[in-house]
Amino acid sequence: MVQHSAHDRGPRIGATPGADTVREAEPDVLVIGAGAAGAAVAWRLAAAGWRVVCLEQGDWVAPASRPPLHEDWELRRLTDFNADPNVRQLAADYPVNDTASAFTPLMFNAVGGSTIHWSGHFPRFHPSDFRVRALDGVADDWPLDYAELAPYYDLNDRMIGVAGLAGDPAQPPRAARQTAPLPIGPFGAALVRGFEHLGWHWWPSDSAIITAPYGDEPGRRPCNLCGPCDLGCPIGALSSADVTYWPAALRLGAELRTGCRVREITVDARGRARGARYYDRAGRIREQRAPVVIVACNGIGTPRLLLNSRSRHFPDGLANRSGLVGKNLMFHVFASVGGIFPAALDTFKGPIGTGLFSHEFYETDPARGFVRGYQLQMGRQSGPLSTALGGQPAARVPWGAEHHAAFAARYGSTGYLGVMGEDLPEPANEVVLDPHLTDAHGIPAPLVRYRLSANSQRLLAHGVARAGEVLRAAGATTIVSASPLRPSGWHLLGTCRMGDDPGAAVVDRWGRAHDVDNLFVVDGSVFVTSAVGNPTTTIQALALRTADHLIRARGTAGTR
Ligand SMILES: Cc1cc2nc3c(=O)[nH]c(=O)nc-3n(C[C@H](O)[C@H](O)[C@H](O)COP(=O)(O)OP(=O)(O)OC[C@H]3O[C@@H](n4cnc5c(N)ncnc54)[C@H](O)[C@@H]3O)c2cc1C
Ligand code: SF4
Repeated sequence: MVQHSAHDRGPRIGATPGADTVREAEPDVLVIGAGAAGAAVAWRLAAAGWRVVCLEQGDWVAPASRPPLHEDWELRRLTDFNADPNVRQLAADYPVNDTASAFTPLMFNAVGGSTIHWSGHFPRFHPSDFRVRALDGVADDWPLDYAELAPYYDLNDRMIGVAGLAGDPAQPPRAARQTAPLPIGPFGAALVRGFEHLGWHWWPSDSAIITAPYGDEPGRRPCNLCGPCDLGCPIGALSSADVTYWPAALRLGAELRTGCRVREITVDARGRARGARYYDRAGRIREQRAPVVIVACNGIGTPRLLLNSRSRHFPDGLANRSGLVGKNLMFHVFASVGGIFPAALDTFKGPIGTGLFSHEFYETDPARGFVRGYQLQMGRQSGPLSTALGGQPAARVPWGAEHHAAFAARYGSTGYLGVMGEDLPEPANEVVLDPHLTDAHGIPAPLVRYRLSANSQRLLAHGVARAGEVLRAAGATTIVSASPLRPSGWHLLGTCRMGDDPGAAVVDRWGRAHDVDNLFVVDGSVFVTSAVGNPTTTIQALALRTADHLIRARGTAGTR
């Protein structure tokens, strides 16, 4: 973790722009953050003729520079391509104090945001996920339902290209997927035998990966099954936001400024958002004004920015009159269960985190002793280096004379099931500002406090046992597990929750801040509950819906 001393601090938070502040011309809308959500909202607004400026602290990541094309790819996972910003410590990163968190928050700061690292597992919410208070008496219901979001899920799928198979009986019907499902390979076939033996649901995953030529973007090729999607896809098969939404948004005239770190969102005399003050690549402080400001910095970056945006109107942070900015952090609770099989199953061949899944244990069953549920998600083995080190969860490989035999018995024959469970919101799980830690510009860094509830612990114990049963039924002879798996904070949710009541939510049903009528949030912060599955299709669908709301309201007072 980087700790910067007081002497590299920039101007004091809340300082008025001085003579050295460069002011930019005004667009129609300012988007902060160029990840999954920022890209989607920028594209939709640019397509409607809005003049869009987006500020992103990171840079473009050239496909050819991504580790899977290079011999040292596994070492890069341990260094500059680690998903933990505290390990990477690149110029675009900010430190996160996670010493009080059961999960390590993971993210990437670049054009495309964390989708540069993601695995592309792409499940939608179930209809029940929008009404857990009504169904199970826990958390809160969303102020919208599945039917309202469904057209935006569909639009998002068409924009990015999804591999999969329509017809899953566990989920609402959907259009034919854009490309055929990924091949599940011999390991997937073994898992299918396991699920079938137990009589449990399974289905090929919807994956944000193309398996055939798709779309207009040049440079996207179908998946070649090389494996380490989490290190960035070098051929554009993985539908990260830099190869999907951004090229289209730029063609439509959106302006994307990289190397620009926003320090604070400024407000006018009435307490409405006026724009953002940011550091450009040269370290100069600039101000970008806009009549509408949209924040898309993810479930940690967004509350951090709002809490850092203090003013006379908002002494406790922008849009924080409810006191809920930063509260109710959810990750998804996660355990990894590995099975070692007696025969080679090419377990390293294919995208590392997507292939097939089970929603057998998705909905609440009171007999299980916990509310809500989990998905079982196929995970592949990584490379030889990680195998030699034991993999994750670690199945220790002996060193010395027995090493080669043990390695040969595991490489290609160890496969995983992830147990990804619903993480219910709790105010004590939170993002606050660290009193001491800052980034390279002297901006206070986030501090994350998160602990697993008793419900989550019971849920994970149940899931680990069921995953072991599947792997055994599939033929595995040795089972290993890590529960919870600490470095699994991929999903950053809930810290600016959505709701109709200004006293109980930060943003309304459209993502508009209750306290600031021209400020919107479109990332995972707005989630009311986490649901069971990976969140990004829902994050992007919500961002597109917010954009359409703005487009409909164009010209009406208080919006633009
Ligand atoms: C290893 C890994 C695997 C994953 N696998 C999956 C998966 O299989 N399926 C799935 O659904 N999800 C997955 N995810 C999660 C997915 O990547 C995120 O849900 C998604 O990217 C969130 O989108 P976002 O726009 O909210 O935030 P991000 O994509 O994180 O983008 C936020 C952007 O804001 C920028 N930013 C932040 N603060 C500032 C500031 N002050 N000034 C300027 N810019 C700023 C950041 O640099 C970043 O580019 C994975 C994530 C990781 C790390
Ligand atoms: S497995 Fe496919 S999607 Fe993943 S990095 Fe390789 S080519 Fe890209």
